[in-house]
Amino acid sequence: MTKTVVAVGGHIGDMELTAGPTLAKVVLEGGRAVIVDCTYGERGHPKLAPSVYREQKVHEAQFFADTIGAELVVLDYSDGFLPDDDGVAEQIADVIRRTRPDMLITHWVRSMHRDHERAAQAALRGAFLASIPLEEIEQPQHSVPVTLYAENWEDMEGFEADTFFAIPDRAYDLWREGIQEHAFARGETYGFRYIDYYSALMQVKGCLVGEQRAAAFKTAGSERFALAGP
Ligand SMILES: [Zn+2]
Repeated sequence: MTKTVVAVGGHIGDMELTAGPTLAKVVLEGGRAVIVDCTYGERGHPKLAPSVYREQKVHEAQFFADTIGAELVVLDYSDGFLPDDDGVAEQIADVIRRTRPDMLITHWVRSMHRDHERAAQAALRGAFLASIPLEEIEQPQHSVPVTLYAENWEDMEGFEADTFFAIPDRAYDLWREGIQEHAFARGETYGFRYIDYYSALMQVKGCLVGEQRAAAFKTAGSERFALAGP
């Protein structure tokens, strides 16, 4: 499978949860996985103050990345306030130029969370900015061949999966070990059983493609150009 994958999420935990099993598989196969979390996701806890939860979230993200062998980039934006400007896209473009991914993963562009939609738009715009010659930037340009949207129950409006990756047991186990460290995924914040949901989802998608488990994605198509084109 793909050698280098960059996954861009709105909050710490989003790409870990949805793209994580695929990223673990990539690393197990000798590839490189880079997680870019655009905000800390620090307002997602009903009891912890954002400043306290923010530190915990960064720990959770680092634990997950270390567990599956990924690299982690956390952009310095606040949960609920991801700006809709080129500043975010330029930071993602910088990661793309430095790591030269074969594949980019982000949120589907229709979501119940504004941060998810903006992260997806920034990822697409970042891929575009990384692909054009910019004389003031030293790193050479890079065109990402494939962009995929991860399946996420919070981003399902109009989402239709068309790409499936088999998830081997070892990748699933590493994902589970890493995601277990995230309080929200364990159901400690608002009670949604994320780990059960995504574990079952991988089984369901696996049934569709004749594998024990699979992760589902939607390939970016014309909307990429509508949102991020020249
Ligand atoms: Zn999120």
